[in-house]
Amino acid sequence: MKKTIALIAHDSKKADMVAFVKDNQEILSEANLLATGTTGSYIRQTGLEVELKLSGPKGGDAQIAALAAEGHVDGIIFFRDPLGKHPHEPDIQMLLRICDVYDVPLATNRATGEMVIRGLFRL
Ligand code: PGA
Repeated sequence: MKKTIALIAHDSKKADMVAFVKDNQEILSEANLLATGTTGSYIRQTGLEVELKLSGPKGGDAQIAALAAEGHVDGIIFFRDPLGKHPHEPDIQMLLRICDVYDVPLATNRATGEMVIRGLFRL
């Protein structure tokens, strides 16, 4: 069955996410991709199909957390801004907690992101 991978990047990390997606485009084209709204609209520019959820501050992280809790997400790559403040910090913490509750692979930086996708595809 196709793997479902959720992609989220805070504003200062969106360019890094697009670069990551381009570098891994071939593998990611084998997956169902979900993303928070703005991140997803950037990812679409690479030509990959991605299902857009709400923007993060409007509940997108919470939507992805709910899907993870229901067992619909195989891995999450979340390039967080480690330096900034975010109005939706409670949602971010909730997403991280849900990943730990349900043992969903979660990468919060590029190095781990590479490992997560390779692990999911057994490469
Ligand atoms: P965005 O949300 O992709 O809609 O910017 C990401 C976030 O801030 O969590």
